[in-house]
Amino acid sequence: MSVIHVLPPQVAASIAAGEVVERPASVVKELVENALDAGAAAISVEIAGGGLSLVRVSDNGCGISRADAPLALERFSTSKIHTLADLSAIRTLGFRGEALAAIAAVARLTILTRTAAELEGTRVTASDGQMTVEPAASPAGCSVAVGDLFYNTPARRKFLKSPLREADLCQETVARYALAYPEVAFKLTVDGHERLVAPPATPLERLGLALGREAAAEMLPIAWEAGELRVHGYISSPAIGRSRRDGQYFYLNCRPIRSGLLAVMLERPYAGRLPLGRSPLAVLYLDLDPALVDINVHPRKAEVRFAQERAVYQALSQAVSAALAPFPVQETWGVPGWPFPETPTAPVALAEGIVAYGVAHKAEAMGQVRNTYIVAHAFDELIVVDQHAAHEAVLTERLLAGEEPVRPSPPARLELTPREAELLAGNVGTLADLGLEVEPFGANSFLLRALPASLAGQDAPALLADLLAELATGRDLDPDALREKLASKAACHAAAKAGDRLSLEQQQALLDELLAAWSPATCPHGRPALFRLTVEEIERRFLRR
Ligand code: ADP
Ligand code: MG
Repeated sequence: MSVIHVLPPQVAASIAAGEVVERPASVVKELVENALDAGAAAISVEIAGGGLSLVRVSDNGCGISRADAPLALERFSTSKIHTLADLSAIRTLGFRGEALAAIAAVARLTILTRTAAELEGTRVTASDGQMTVEPAASPAGCSVAVGDLFYNTPARRKFLKSPLREADLCQETVARYALAYPEVAFKLTVDGHERLVAPPATPLERLGLALGREAAAEMLPIAWEAGELRVHGYISSPAIGRSRRDGQYFYLNCRPIRSGLLAVMLERPYAGRLPLGRSPLAVLYLDLDPALVDINVHPRKAEVRFAQERAVYQALSQAVSAALAPFPVQETWGVPGWPFPETPTAPVALAEGIVAYGVAHKAEAMGQVRNTYIVAHAFDELIVVDQHAAHEAVLTERLLAGEEPVRPSPPARLELTPREAELLAGNVGTLADLGLEVEPFGANSFLLRALPASLAGQDAPALLADLLAELATGRDLDPDALREKLASKAACHAAAKAGDRLSLEQQQALLDELLAAWSPATCPHGRPALFRLTVEEIERRFLRR
């Protein structure tokens, strides 16, 4: 008997769907993106039962014609690109043609639609792999209803938070798009109650929607341009701040993106202006020639890759610094002994015709001593970095900022003692908050389904053993403190060790990220990550002074 077999298409589709459709908010995201791509002027979102019973998105966009309707649910069917070359000029939010297929694989789906040119509309229903297409009355536009989400993949449901929390995440998703498309009317109804009503507005009016009216009043406009690169939007004045980064919204060509590094670059100019541990609020739009960005690197397109990362980050830093210039820097709030010299670098060519002038620390890595310490120079000082402490600081920052998960295939299997298993079972949510998804797999075994990108490649059982030890001793901590403790433990585990040989490029990358981090002088254990020797000190040693 043959054991190897090809998966039926329905099963294969559900596996991929696990990545596109992670939770109700992912459904909201995909459907709202489709409505925006269809040119809708008004979008209405309805949620019931935390999005598990129903997500319905109705729009007044171009609609789907009767002839096209059966194709909309085919995997890799899209109206948005024709050739690979189109990808580099992409202006639409969708292009892979897999969202509707992926949603249909894990839910029951009904599309009611009509184009302006048609007299009669179309209803498409799909569930359990069966699809029907029939005539139906419909207003012009498209309404997609998704019911019984994950009815056939119950394991997915286990990772969801409470219906209330899932509804909040859906609301956050709607707000995120409403901020980027102020000219479009948005409405969100949760279990029959209107949660958000946003008529067409100016960008500034929309700010209040996501940040609250009081915070919106404290926002400063920023605008910065160089060639085809434009950074604009709003950042908070140093008068306000949050303990988390939940008030930060980044967009690239109107597409919401997440990037721990963009957050770090935004925050750097606030050093000395905001108390340590507070994060600014921001709604920032980057406009850039699509050819200079790869958006096809992530299943949910939440992360992007810039052709010239450093120039983009420096542009952001420059724009924020300029807006904050009127606010005095209070040295006592900064990291003692670490004011960044605010001198513009030489222009950085971003692409032909696009030049960015960034503010940089200009530090340049020169090599390692004993494969343990990185030696660098900057302006008028020598910098010595402890590579392990530095890497640990940088990774902790990334983990706390929230990284997109990677899904090992096959998932790593963890065999635990009954005591460890109990501890782990009680902390599944805490680990999920850090991007580690574990799932029970029989008595005392678990599967590690997903982990943050920075931890990929780690010995999973050893990593989990370390984290369990932290969980055992951290029972009394409040959730934020526990999260930080776990993040720094995981970072310590994954960080380069003393004795590891690093290429000059790796040294430079580490240095750049370290110097951009919020409090670069110490590692999470409180051990210094670097020290500096100024030219004056060097001269004193040579008895020149
Ligand atoms: P993609 O957005 O990547 O093209 P989807 O699976 O999300 O893939 O959608 C498939 C196709 O269905 C789209 O390319 C579009 O032609 C059509 N479509 C989906 N939603 C809508 C909508 N709300 N209005 C009009 N057309 C839509
Ligand atoms: Mg789409």
